Amino acid sequence: MPKHARILLVEDEPAFVETLRFQLQRAGYDVRVASDGDAALAAVQRAKPDLILLDLILPGLDGMEVCRRIRDTSTTPIIMLTARTGVGDKVTGLEAGADDYVTKPIQTRELLARIKAALRRAQLPPASDTTMIMTIGDLKIDLGRHSVFVGDREVPLRAKEFEFLTYLARNAGQVVTREQIMRRVWGVDDAEDSRTVDVHVRWLREKLERDPSRPKLLQTVRNVGYRLAG
Ligand code: CA
Repeated sequence: MPKHARILLVEDEPAFVETLRFQLQRAGYDVRVASDGDAALAAVQRAKPDLILLDLILPGLDGMEVCRRIRDTSTTPIIMLTARTGVGDKVTGLEAGADDYVTKPIQTRELLARIKAALRRAQLPPASDTTMIMTIGDLKIDLGRHSVFVGDREVPLRAKEFEFLTYLARNAGQVVTREQIMRRVWGVDDAEDSRTVDVHVRWLREKLERDPSRPKLLQTVRNVGYRLAG
């Protein structure tokens, strides 16, 4: 789990924001705040949070709609916050794509435990992935056996290369920044060290690409990061 995971807090009540921000920061999280739905959608793209705390009651777009729209483009864990306690809200929230649900008044310890659990789950393969094999074009990753194949050829990877490739594969088709990679794969919050990422990209290309100088699978997105074709 990243040491300083970034949390996007989406809430419009200033007093609640201040209290929660303080508690989350004290727990070691990097906290960003958006006070309405449109700001939240923009912040998801810009700040690339590791987890989103989303209040149900917001001005403009409500939390459910914000949740649905985030889910159109992102698998970032979402925990819904609300004053309501109705079971109906909980079900709708989960159907909208939320991962978990916490009702106000919020017990800090409980919220922190839910956050930890959601971040931990985000590191694991999706629950539906019962075969533990990810397939992307010719690439096959066997999560159980820690082995990787291109077509029928098994490709030996070092542990860190495997972890990095798996992270890219879980985000296949999406751009991930060097900063995200450093945080999620190396657990380091220091983008200065992003040469590590570039070196591993080169090694992976040499092992996986037909022509490493013209990569098709592990693509560079100039000035942003990398993307595994998906
Ligand atoms: Ca609110």
